[in-house]
Amino acid sequence: MHLNLVELALRGGEHYERAFALEVEPILLGGASFQVSVPEGVCVAVDRVTGGYLVKVALTATVYGPCMRCLKDTRLEVVAEQEEFAPTAGGQWDPAELSEFITDLVVDVDSLAREAVVLALPFQPLCSEECKGLCPHCGADLNLGPCGCEGVEPDLRWEGLRGLLERREEAE
Ligand SMILES: [Zn+2]
Ligand SMILES: [Zn+2]
Repeated sequence: MHLNLVELALRGGEHYERAFALEVEPILLGGASFQVSVPEGVCVAVDRVTGGYLVKVALTATVYGPCMRCLKDTRLEVVAEQEEFAPTAGGQWDPAELSEFITDLVVDVDSLAREAVVLALPFQPLCSEECKGLCPHCGADLNLGPCGCEGVEPDLRWEGLRGLLERREEAE
């Protein structure tokens, strides 16, 4: 979806607002793929201000993917919002200061909305803040109870020494 700001024919101080249906490509995070669903679409608001346009997107996305600790399928509600400024005289601006989602006063609504979701996602999506994760020894889901490995911490220093000894035996 592309929205041409000029075609909105807004005069100074005027406001435009509309909801658009939206499909968001899966987002990769920590090596895992997260499906994004936006059933209510994205709300785009535009304000004609001095020197340009203020463009704001707001959406509520449902994000599906693995919990980063226990890998269980997890569903997150993400409320995302992002605002960009598009100057009418964009040619006089340093390109680095211009929104990468607005080219010649045309807004790439899908990419802007996707970016808003990416920024609103937690760094580490979890099924719950209290998730205990998987046992590093046997892989059991510790949310279901203790696995019986407790106290069997392998001592990595001895692992290294054992490796050395084995190699020496092979050499002899
Ligand atoms: Zn979890
Ligand atoms: Zn275990």
